[in-house]
Amino acid sequence: MQKNDLFELSIIDMGAGGEGIGRYDGMTFFVKDACIGDVVRARATKIKKNYGYARVEEVLTPSTFRVTPKCPVYKQCGGCQIQALSYEKQLEYKQEKVRNALIRIGGFPEKEIERKMLPIVGMETPFRYRNKAQFPAGKDKDGNVITGFYAARTHHIIPVEDCLLGVEENRGILNAVQSWMTEHRISPYDERTGEGLVRHILIRYGFTTKELMVCLVINGARLPFAEELIALLKPISGMTSISYNINPFQTNVILGEKTECIWGLPYITDYIHLRACKDGDDFALTDTAIAYHISPQSFYQVNPVQTEKLYSTALEYAGLTGKECVWDLYCGIGTISLFLSQRAKQVYGVEAVPQAIEDAKANAKLNGITNVRFFVGKAEEVLPDFYAQASSSQKQPEADMLRPDVIVVDPPRKGCDGKCLEVMLRMQPQRIVYVSCDPATLARDLRVLCDGGYALEKVRAFDQFGQTVHVETVVCLSKF
Ligand code: SAH
Repeated sequence: MQKNDLFELSIIDMGAGGEGIGRYDGMTFFVKDACIGDVVRARATKIKKNYGYARVEEVLTPSTFRVTPKCPVYKQCGGCQIQALSYEKQLEYKQEKVRNALIRIGGFPEKEIERKMLPIVGMETPFRYRNKAQFPAGKDKDGNVITGFYAARTHHIIPVEDCLLGVEENRGILNAVQSWMTEHRISPYDERTGEGLVRHILIRYGFTTKELMVCLVINGARLPFAEELIALLKPISGMTSISYNINPFQTNVILGEKTECIWGLPYITDYIHLRACKDGDDFALTDTAIAYHISPQSFYQVNPVQTEKLYSTALEYAGLTGKECVWDLYCGIGTISLFLSQRAKQVYGVEAVPQAIEDAKANAKLNGITNVRFFVGKAEEVLPDFYAQASSSQKQPEADMLRPDVIVVDPPRKGCDGKCLEVMLRMQPQRIVYVSCDPATLARDLRVLCDGGYALEKVRAFDQFGQTVHVETVVCLSKF
Protein backbone atom coordinates (compact mmCIF):
# COMPACT_ATOMS: atom_id res chain seq x y z
CA MET A 1 0.00 0.00 0.00
CA GLN A 2 1.33 3.40 -0.99
CA LYS A 3 0.25 6.98 -0.90
CA ASN A 4 -2.30 7.79 -3.66
CA ASP A 5 -3.38 4.14 -4.02
CA LEU A 6 -7.10 3.62 -4.60
CA PHE A 7 -8.98 0.99 -2.63
CA GLU A 8 -12.48 0.08 -1.49
CA LEU A 9 -13.54 -0.23 2.11
CA SER A 10 -16.57 -0.25 4.41
CA ILE A 11 -16.78 2.41 7.10
CA ILE A 12 -17.54 0.72 10.39
CA ASP A 13 -16.88 3.43 12.95
CA MET A 14 -16.20 7.14 13.38
CA GLY A 15 -13.21 8.77 15.03
CA ALA A 16 -13.02 11.66 17.48
CA GLY A 17 -12.81 14.19 14.64
CA GLY A 18 -15.81 12.76 12.78
CA GLU A 19 -13.67 10.91 10.22
CA GLY A 20 -14.80 7.49 8.98
CA ILE A 21 -12.90 4.44 10.17
CA GLY A 22 -12.53 1.24 8.18
CA ARG A 23 -10.11 -1.63 7.69
CA TYR A 24 -8.28 -2.66 4.56
CA ASP A 25 -5.43 -5.06 4.03
CA GLY A 26 -4.92 -5.54 7.77
CA MET A 27 -4.64 -1.80 8.35
CA THR A 28 -6.98 0.73 9.98
CA PHE A 29 -7.80 3.74 7.81
CA PHE A 30 -9.11 7.12 8.88
CA VAL A 31 -11.16 8.38 5.96
CA LYS A 32 -12.05 12.06 5.66
CA ASP A 33 -15.67 12.86 4.67
CA ALA A 34 -16.82 9.24 5.02
CA CYS A 35 -19.85 8.36 7.16
CA ILE A 36 -20.37 5.30 9.28
CA GLY A 37 -22.19 2.75 7.11
CA ASP A 38 -20.72 3.96 3.78
CA VAL A 39 -18.88 1.77 1.33
CA VAL A 40 -16.37 4.05 -0.39
CA ARG A 41 -13.57 4.12 -2.88
CA ALA A 42 -10.81 5.94 -1.04
CA ARG A 43 -7.42 7.34 -1.94
CA ALA A 44 -4.60 6.89 0.56
CA THR A 45 -3.16 10.22 1.66
CA LYS A 46 -0.71 9.03 4.31
CA ILE A 47 0.58 5.57 5.21
CA LYS A 48 1.97 4.67 8.63
CA LYS A 49 3.11 1.30 9.93
CA ASN A 50 -0.24 -0.28 10.66
CA TYR A 51 -2.69 2.50 9.97
CA GLY A 52 -3.25 5.16 7.37
CA TYR A 53 -5.24 8.19 6.26
CA ALA A 54 -7.38 8.45 3.16
CA ARG A 55 -10.03 10.60 1.55
CA VAL A 56 -13.22 9.65 -0.24
CA GLU A 57 -12.95 9.47 -4.04
CA GLU A 58 -16.41 8.07 -4.51
CA VAL A 59 -19.20 6.91 -2.24
CA LEU A 60 -20.09 3.51 -3.71
CA THR A 61 -22.96 2.68 -1.34
CA PRO A 62 -24.07 5.59 0.80
CA SER A 63 -24.80 4.94 4.45
CA THR A 64 -28.45 4.93 5.50
CA PHE A 65 -27.40 7.53 8.10
CA ARG A 66 -26.40 10.04 5.42
CA VAL A 67 -28.45 13.18 4.88
CA THR A 68 -27.91 15.97 2.35
CA PRO A 69 -25.98 18.68 4.19
CA LYS A 70 -28.02 21.87 4.35
CA CYS A 71 -25.01 24.12 4.00
CA PRO A 72 -23.55 24.47 0.49
CA VAL A 73 -20.03 25.09 1.78
CA TYR A 74 -19.94 22.61 4.61
CA LYS A 75 -17.01 20.67 3.15
CA GLN A 76 -14.75 23.66 2.52
CA CYS A 77 -15.62 25.34 5.81
CA GLY A 78 -14.97 22.36 8.05
CA GLY A 79 -16.77 23.93 11.01
CA CYS A 80 -19.54 21.31 10.85
CA GLN A 81 -17.63 18.05 10.67
CA ILE A 82 -20.66 15.74 10.75
CA GLN A 83 -23.40 17.66 8.96
CA ALA A 84 -23.76 14.79 6.46
CA LEU A 85 -24.91 12.51 9.28
CA SER A 86 -28.56 12.41 10.39
CA TYR A 87 -29.07 14.24 13.68
CA GLU A 88 -30.25 11.07 15.39
CA LYS A 89 -27.01 9.36 14.42
CA GLN A 90 -24.98 12.40 15.51
CA LEU A 91 -26.47 12.03 18.98
CA GLU A 92 -25.74 8.33 19.04
CA TYR A 93 -22.15 9.03 17.98
CA LYS A 94 -21.74 11.51 20.85
CA GLN A 95 -23.32 9.22 23.41
CA GLU A 96 -20.91 6.47 22.29
CA LYS A 97 -17.96 8.82 22.43
CA VAL A 98 -18.61 9.51 26.12
CA ARG A 99 -19.41 5.86 26.90
CA ASN A 100 -16.27 4.58 25.18
CA ALA A 101 -14.03 7.11 26.87
CA LEU A 102 -15.36 6.12 30.30
CA ILE A 103 -14.83 2.44 29.58
CA ARG A 104 -11.52 2.59 27.68
CA ILE A 105 -9.77 5.53 29.32
CA GLY A 106 -11.54 5.62 32.67
CA GLY A 107 -11.51 1.85 33.09
CA PHE A 108 -15.12 1.78 34.34
CA PRO A 109 -16.92 -1.55 33.83
CA GLU A 110 -19.35 -1.52 30.91
CA LYS A 111 -22.20 -2.67 33.18
CA GLU A 112 -21.67 0.22 35.57
CA ILE A 113 -21.71 2.76 32.73
CA GLU A 114 -24.89 1.25 31.36
CA ARG A 115 -26.58 1.68 34.73
CA LYS A 116 -25.31 5.19 35.41
CA MET A 117 -25.51 6.81 31.97
CA LEU A 118 -28.71 8.58 30.95
CA PRO A 119 -29.69 9.26 27.33
CA ILE A 120 -27.97 12.24 25.69
CA VAL A 121 -29.92 15.50 25.69
CA GLY A 122 -30.22 16.73 22.09
CA MET A 123 -31.57 19.94 20.60
CA GLU A 124 -35.05 20.38 19.22
CA THR A 125 -33.64 22.02 16.10
CA PRO A 126 -29.91 21.50 15.63
CA PHE A 127 -29.42 24.63 13.50
CA ARG A 128 -29.40 28.38 14.22
CA TYR A 129 -28.43 27.78 17.83
CA ARG A 130 -25.32 29.99 18.10
CA ASN A 131 -25.69 33.41 19.69
CA LYS A 132 -22.27 34.61 18.56
CA ALA A 133 -20.58 34.79 15.15
CA GLN A 134 -17.30 36.29 14.00
CA PHE A 135 -17.01 36.80 10.26
CA PRO A 136 -13.66 37.79 8.74
CA ALA A 137 -13.75 40.42 5.96
CA GLY A 138 -11.69 40.09 2.79
CA LYS A 139 -11.72 40.58 -0.98
CA ASP A 140 -12.58 38.19 -3.79
CA LYS A 141 -10.50 37.85 -6.99
CA ASP A 142 -12.22 40.87 -8.53
CA GLY A 143 -11.53 43.04 -5.53
CA ASN A 144 -15.07 43.02 -4.14
CA VAL A 145 -15.54 43.08 -0.39
CA ILE A 146 -16.60 39.69 0.97
CA THR A 147 -17.36 38.32 4.42
CA GLY A 148 -17.45 34.68 5.34
CA PHE A 149 -15.46 32.02 7.08
CA TYR A 150 -11.95 30.70 6.87
CA ALA A 151 -11.70 27.45 4.92
CA ALA A 152 -10.69 24.52 7.12
CA ARG A 153 -7.12 24.85 8.41
CA THR A 154 -6.39 27.89 6.19
CA HIS A 155 -6.83 31.62 6.28
CA HIS A 156 -8.52 31.71 2.93
CA ILE A 157 -12.00 33.27 3.21
CA ILE A 158 -14.96 31.44 1.69
CA PRO A 159 -17.75 33.93 1.12
CA VAL A 160 -20.73 32.89 3.27
CA GLU A 161 -23.82 35.00 3.42
CA ASP A 162 -25.48 32.78 5.92
CA CYS A 163 -24.09 30.27 8.40
CA LEU A 164 -26.83 27.84 9.38
CA LEU A 165 -25.56 27.55 12.93
CA GLY A 166 -25.92 31.31 13.41
CA VAL A 167 -29.08 33.39 13.69
CA GLU A 168 -30.85 34.75 10.62
CA GLU A 169 -30.19 38.29 11.80
CA ASN A 170 -26.50 37.89 10.89
CA ARG A 171 -27.20 38.13 7.19
CA GLY A 172 -28.80 41.58 7.18
CA ILE A 173 -25.98 42.90 9.35
CA LEU A 174 -23.28 41.50 7.08
CA ASN A 175 -24.99 42.96 4.02
CA ALA A 176 -25.19 46.37 5.68
CA VAL A 177 -21.52 46.34 6.68
CA GLN A 178 -20.46 45.11 3.24
CA SER A 179 -22.35 47.85 1.41
CA TRP A 180 -21.02 50.47 3.84
CA MET A 181 -17.47 49.27 3.11
CA THR A 182 -18.02 49.27 -0.66
CA GLU A 183 -19.67 52.71 -0.70
CA HIS A 184 -17.00 54.41 1.41
CA ARG A 185 -14.10 52.45 -0.07
CA ILE A 186 -13.18 50.98 3.27
CA SER A 187 -10.73 48.18 2.72
CA PRO A 188 -10.81 44.83 4.48
CA TYR A 189 -7.73 43.83 6.40
CA ASP A 190 -5.16 41.72 4.54
CA GLU A 191 -3.35 39.30 6.84
CA ARG A 192 -0.33 38.94 4.57
CA THR A 193 0.45 42.63 4.26
CA GLY A 194 -1.05 43.86 7.52
CA GLU A 195 -2.83 46.58 5.46
CA GLY A 196 -6.53 47.41 5.35
CA LEU A 197 -9.01 48.34 8.05
CA VAL A 198 -11.85 45.91 8.78
CA ARG A 199 -10.73 42.56 10.19
CA HIS A 200 -13.79 40.89 11.65
CA ILE A 201 -17.46 41.58 12.17
CA LEU A 202 -18.52 40.25 15.56
CA ILE A 203 -22.24 39.77 16.09
CA ARG A 204 -23.97 38.67 19.30
CA TYR A 205 -27.63 38.02 19.85
CA GLY A 206 -29.56 37.66 23.09
CA PHE A 207 -31.89 34.72 22.55
CA THR A 208 -34.29 35.72 25.32
CA THR A 209 -34.15 39.50 24.83
CA LYS A 210 -33.66 39.58 21.02
CA GLU A 211 -31.04 42.28 21.53
CA LEU A 212 -28.31 42.57 18.88
CA MET A 213 -24.71 43.68 19.16
CA VAL A 214 -22.35 44.52 16.28
CA CYS A 215 -18.65 45.13 16.86
CA LEU A 216 -16.26 45.85 13.98
CA VAL A 217 -12.73 44.75 14.73
CA ILE A 218 -10.43 47.22 13.00
CA ASN A 219 -6.77 47.69 12.28
CA GLY A 220 -6.76 51.41 13.05
CA ALA A 221 -7.27 53.94 15.82
CA ARG A 222 -10.73 55.11 14.83
CA LEU A 223 -13.64 54.17 12.63
CA PRO A 224 -14.23 56.44 9.60
CA PHE A 225 -17.80 57.06 8.35
CA ALA A 226 -19.14 55.87 11.69
CA GLU A 227 -22.37 57.89 11.37
CA GLU A 228 -23.07 56.29 8.01
CA LEU A 229 -22.56 52.81 9.47
CA ILE A 230 -24.82 53.59 12.42
CA ALA A 231 -27.51 54.86 10.03
CA LEU A 232 -27.50 51.48 8.27
CA LEU A 233 -27.40 49.27 11.36
CA LYS A 234 -29.64 51.18 13.77
CA PRO A 235 -32.92 50.38 11.94
CA ILE A 236 -32.31 46.63 12.24
CA SER A 237 -34.83 45.29 14.72
CA GLY A 238 -33.27 44.59 18.12
CA MET A 239 -30.09 46.59 17.51
CA THR A 240 -28.82 47.56 20.97
CA SER A 241 -25.08 48.03 20.77
CA ILE A 242 -22.71 49.17 18.01
CA SER A 243 -19.00 49.39 18.70
CA TYR A 244 -15.57 48.98 17.24
CA ASN A 245 -12.60 47.19 18.70
CA ILE A 246 -9.00 48.12 17.95
CA ASN A 247 -6.64 45.32 16.99
CA PRO A 248 -3.50 46.58 15.22
CA PHE A 249 -1.48 43.41 15.72
CA GLN A 250 -0.58 40.76 13.14
CA THR A 251 -2.13 37.94 15.10
CA ASN A 252 -4.79 35.22 14.93
CA VAL A 253 -6.40 36.60 18.07
CA ILE A 254 -9.60 38.24 16.92
CA LEU A 255 -10.20 40.97 19.49
CA GLY A 256 -7.83 43.68 20.62
CA GLU A 257 -7.92 45.25 24.07
CA LYS A 258 -9.83 48.45 23.50
CA THR A 259 -13.49 48.69 22.52
CA GLU A 260 -15.29 51.95 21.76
CA CYS A 261 -19.07 52.01 21.82
CA ILE A 262 -20.39 54.34 19.09
CA TRP A 263 -24.12 53.82 19.47
CA GLY A 264 -26.46 52.41 22.11
CA LEU A 265 -25.18 50.48 25.10
CA PRO A 266 -21.72 48.88 25.47
CA TYR A 267 -23.38 45.52 26.19
CA ILE A 268 -26.47 43.44 25.48
CA THR A 269 -28.49 41.68 28.16
CA ASP A 270 -29.51 38.06 28.10
CA TYR A 271 -31.11 35.69 30.60
CA ILE A 272 -30.33 32.10 31.44
CA HIS A 273 -33.36 30.32 32.84
CA LEU A 274 -33.36 27.48 35.23
CA ARG A 275 -35.13 24.48 33.72
CA ALA A 276 -36.95 21.68 35.48
CA CYS A 277 -34.83 18.58 35.15
CA LYS A 278 -35.87 15.49 36.90
CA ASP A 279 -34.23 12.74 34.84
CA GLY A 280 -35.84 12.20 31.49
CA ASP A 281 -38.30 15.08 31.58
CA ASP A 282 -38.65 17.87 29.11
CA PHE A 283 -36.57 20.62 30.73
CA ALA A 284 -39.52 22.96 31.06
CA LEU A 285 -38.63 26.61 31.71
CA THR A 286 -39.04 27.83 35.29
CA ASP A 287 -39.47 31.38 36.55
CA THR A 288 -35.94 31.55 37.94
CA ALA A 289 -33.60 33.37 35.60
CA ILE A 290 -30.22 35.05 35.92
CA ALA A 291 -29.48 38.17 33.87
CA TYR A 292 -26.12 38.73 32.17
CA HIS A 293 -24.57 41.77 30.59
CA ILE A 294 -22.49 40.65 27.62
CA SER A 295 -19.88 42.95 26.10
CA PRO A 296 -17.91 42.18 22.90
CA GLN A 297 -15.06 40.66 24.96
CA SER A 298 -17.16 38.68 27.42
CA PHE A 299 -17.07 34.95 27.47
CA TYR A 300 -20.62 33.63 27.20
CA GLN A 301 -21.93 30.19 26.35
CA VAL A 302 -22.74 30.12 22.61
CA ASN A 303 -25.73 27.80 22.77
CA PRO A 304 -27.96 29.36 25.43
CA VAL A 305 -30.84 26.88 25.21
CA GLN A 306 -28.68 23.78 25.71
CA THR A 307 -26.66 25.65 28.35
CA GLU A 308 -29.84 26.03 30.39
CA LYS A 309 -30.41 22.29 30.26
CA LEU A 310 -26.78 21.48 31.03
CA TYR A 311 -26.43 23.87 33.97
CA SER A 312 -29.85 23.02 35.36
CA THR A 313 -28.75 19.39 35.41
CA ALA A 314 -25.49 20.36 37.13
CA LEU A 315 -27.55 22.17 39.78
CA GLU A 316 -29.84 19.17 40.17
CA TYR A 317 -26.82 16.88 40.62
CA ALA A 318 -25.40 19.22 43.26
CA GLY A 319 -28.44 18.25 45.37
CA LEU A 320 -28.64 21.53 47.30
CA THR A 321 -31.11 22.32 50.06
CA GLY A 322 -30.08 25.86 50.94
CA LYS A 323 -27.60 25.00 53.72
CA GLU A 324 -24.59 24.02 51.66
CA CYS A 325 -21.25 25.57 50.95
CA VAL A 326 -20.15 25.02 47.35
CA TRP A 327 -16.95 25.61 45.38
CA ASP A 328 -17.41 26.32 41.66
CA LEU A 329 -14.01 25.79 40.05
CA TYR A 330 -13.26 27.13 36.54
CA CYS A 331 -16.28 29.40 37.02
CA GLY A 332 -15.80 31.72 34.01
CA ILE A 333 -18.30 34.59 34.24
CA GLY A 334 -20.03 32.76 37.06
CA THR A 335 -22.86 31.22 35.10
CA ILE A 336 -22.94 28.07 37.22
CA SER A 337 -22.01 29.88 40.45
CA LEU A 338 -24.98 32.23 40.20
CA PHE A 339 -27.28 29.30 39.46
CA LEU A 340 -25.92 27.42 42.49
CA SER A 341 -26.28 30.47 44.73
CA GLN A 342 -30.07 30.25 44.39
CA ARG A 343 -30.06 27.06 46.43
CA ALA A 344 -26.85 27.18 48.47
CA LYS A 345 -25.83 29.02 51.60
CA GLN A 346 -22.52 30.15 50.17
CA VAL A 347 -20.75 29.73 46.83
CA TYR A 348 -17.04 30.29 46.13
CA GLY A 349 -16.03 30.70 42.47
CA VAL A 350 -12.48 30.35 41.10
CA GLU A 351 -11.40 31.43 37.63
CA ALA A 352 -8.01 32.10 36.02
CA VAL A 353 -9.04 35.03 33.78
CA PRO A 354 -9.39 38.32 35.73
CA GLN A 355 -11.79 39.89 33.20
CA ALA A 356 -14.16 36.92 33.56
CA ILE A 357 -14.19 37.44 37.33
CA GLU A 358 -14.97 41.14 36.85
CA ASP A 359 -17.94 40.06 34.73
CA ALA A 360 -18.92 37.43 37.29
CA LYS A 361 -18.96 40.02 40.09
CA ALA A 362 -20.93 42.49 37.96
CA ASN A 363 -23.45 39.77 37.09
CA ALA A 364 -23.88 38.84 40.76
CA LYS A 365 -24.58 42.50 41.53
CA LEU A 366 -26.94 42.87 38.58
CA ASN A 367 -29.02 40.02 40.04
CA GLY A 368 -28.76 41.17 43.65
CA ILE A 369 -26.92 37.98 44.60
CA THR A 370 -24.81 38.35 47.75
CA ASN A 371 -23.87 34.80 48.77
CA VAL A 372 -21.13 34.30 46.15
CA ARG A 373 -17.46 35.19 46.45
CA PHE A 374 -15.12 35.06 43.49
CA PHE A 375 -11.38 34.49 43.43
CA VAL A 376 -8.98 35.11 40.53
CA GLY A 377 -6.37 32.42 40.02
CA LYS A 378 -5.74 28.89 38.92
CA ALA A 379 -7.87 26.32 40.70
CA GLU A 380 -4.74 24.26 41.41
CA GLU A 381 -3.15 27.26 43.15
CA VAL A 382 -6.09 29.00 44.84
CA LEU A 383 -7.30 25.92 46.72
CA PRO A 384 -3.90 24.85 48.14
CA ASP A 385 -3.37 28.46 49.21
CA PHE A 386 -6.35 28.24 51.52
CA TYR A 387 -4.83 25.19 53.18
CA ALA A 388 -1.56 27.02 53.58
CA GLN A 389 -3.40 29.93 55.22
CA ALA A 390 -5.25 27.60 57.54
CA SER A 391 -2.06 26.11 58.90
CA SER A 392 -0.34 29.47 59.28
CA SER A 393 -1.20 31.90 62.03
CA GLN A 394 -2.25 34.64 59.60
CA LYS A 395 -5.71 35.30 58.23
CA GLN A 396 -7.80 32.16 58.67
CA PRO A 397 -10.10 31.11 55.86
CA GLU A 398 -13.65 30.33 56.91
CA ALA A 399 -13.97 26.71 58.03
CA ASP A 400 -16.54 25.85 55.38
CA MET A 401 -14.05 26.77 52.66
CA LEU A 402 -11.91 23.80 53.59
CA ARG A 403 -14.86 21.44 54.11
CA PRO A 404 -17.40 22.28 51.38
CA ASP A 405 -20.49 20.14 50.87
CA VAL A 406 -20.25 20.18 47.10
CA ILE A 407 -17.55 20.97 44.51
CA VAL A 408 -18.49 21.75 40.92
CA VAL A 409 -15.82 21.84 38.20
CA ASP A 410 -16.15 22.95 34.56
CA PRO A 411 -12.57 22.87 33.23
CA PRO A 412 -11.35 23.54 29.66
CA ARG A 413 -10.57 20.60 27.33
CA LYS A 414 -7.38 19.64 29.07
CA GLY A 415 -9.34 18.77 32.19
CA CYS A 416 -8.36 19.37 35.82
CA ASP A 417 -4.79 19.71 36.97
CA GLY A 418 -3.62 16.80 39.13
CA LYS A 419 -3.04 19.17 42.05
CA CYS A 420 -6.58 20.41 41.80
CA LEU A 421 -7.96 16.85 41.95
CA GLU A 422 -5.75 16.15 44.93
CA VAL A 423 -7.13 19.09 46.91
CA MET A 424 -10.68 18.21 45.92
CA LEU A 425 -10.16 14.76 47.42
CA ARG A 426 -8.67 16.26 50.52
CA MET A 427 -11.69 18.52 50.99
CA GLN A 428 -13.99 15.46 50.99
CA PRO A 429 -17.21 17.06 49.76
CA GLN A 430 -20.35 14.89 49.82
CA ARG A 431 -20.76 15.38 46.10
CA ILE A 432 -18.64 16.40 43.12
CA VAL A 433 -20.31 17.59 39.91
CA TYR A 434 -18.00 17.45 36.91
CA VAL A 435 -19.03 19.41 33.79
CA SER A 436 -16.77 18.49 30.88
CA CYS A 437 -16.23 19.43 27.24
CA ASP A 438 -13.82 16.57 26.56
CA PRO A 439 -14.76 12.95 27.27
CA ALA A 440 -11.13 11.75 27.26
CA THR A 441 -9.88 14.07 30.01
CA LEU A 442 -13.17 13.62 31.87
CA ALA A 443 -12.60 9.84 31.95
CA ARG A 444 -8.99 10.32 33.09
CA ASP A 445 -10.02 12.66 35.95
CA LEU A 446 -12.98 10.51 37.03
CA ARG A 447 -10.60 7.60 37.44
CA VAL A 448 -8.52 9.65 39.90
CA LEU A 449 -11.59 10.80 41.82
CA CYS A 450 -13.12 7.32 41.97
CA ASP A 451 -9.82 5.81 43.12
CA GLY A 452 -9.82 8.52 45.79
CA GLY A 453 -13.11 7.49 47.40
CA TYR A 454 -15.90 8.65 45.10
CA ALA A 455 -18.52 6.67 43.21
CA LEU A 456 -20.17 7.46 39.88
CA GLU A 457 -23.82 8.33 40.43
CA LYS A 458 -24.99 9.71 37.11
CA VAL A 459 -23.55 10.56 33.72
CA ARG A 460 -25.40 12.59 31.13
CA ALA A 461 -24.17 13.91 27.79
CA PHE A 462 -25.50 17.09 26.18
CA ASP A 463 -25.33 18.25 22.60
CA GLN A 464 -24.31 21.88 22.76
CA PHE A 465 -22.84 21.98 19.27
CA GLY A 466 -25.02 20.14 16.74
CA GLN A 467 -23.33 19.27 13.41
CA THR A 468 -19.91 19.29 15.08
CA VAL A 469 -18.08 16.48 16.88
CA HIS A 470 -18.10 18.23 20.26
CA VAL A 471 -19.98 16.86 23.22
CA GLU A 472 -20.47 18.07 26.81
CA THR A 473 -21.06 15.82 29.78
CA VAL A 474 -22.27 16.29 33.35
CA VAL A 475 -21.29 13.72 35.94
CA CYS A 476 -22.44 13.38 39.53
CA LEU A 477 -20.08 11.68 42.00
CA SER A 478 -20.73 10.97 45.64
CA LYS A 479 -18.46 10.10 48.52
CA PHE A 480 -18.69 6.55 49.69
N1 SAH B 1 -18.56 27.58 33.82
C1 SAH B 1 -18.08 28.67 33.04
C2 SAH B 1 -17.25 28.29 31.84
C3 SAH B 1 -16.11 27.39 32.06
S1 SAH B 1 -15.07 27.26 30.67
C4 SAH B 1 -19.20 29.50 32.51
O1 SAH B 1 -20.25 28.98 32.25
O2 SAH B 1 -19.00 30.68 32.31
C5 SAH B 1 -13.56 26.94 31.50
C6 SAH B 1 -13.01 28.12 32.25
O3 SAH B 1 -11.86 27.71 32.96
C7 SAH B 1 -12.58 29.27 31.38
O4 SAH B 1 -13.24 30.42 31.82
C8 SAH B 1 -11.07 29.39 31.62
O5 SAH B 1 -10.61 30.72 31.61
C9 SAH B 1 -10.93 28.79 32.99
N2 SAH B 1 -9.62 28.19 33.35
C10 SAH B 1 -8.73 27.58 32.54
N3 SAH B 1 -7.72 27.05 33.27
C11 SAH B 1 -7.99 27.34 34.57
C12 SAH B 1 -7.34 27.03 35.81
N4 SAH B 1 -6.19 26.34 35.83
N5 SAH B 1 -7.89 27.46 36.95
C13 SAH B 1 -9.06 28.15 36.94
N6 SAH B 1 -9.72 28.47 35.81
C14 SAH B 1 -9.20 28.06 34.63
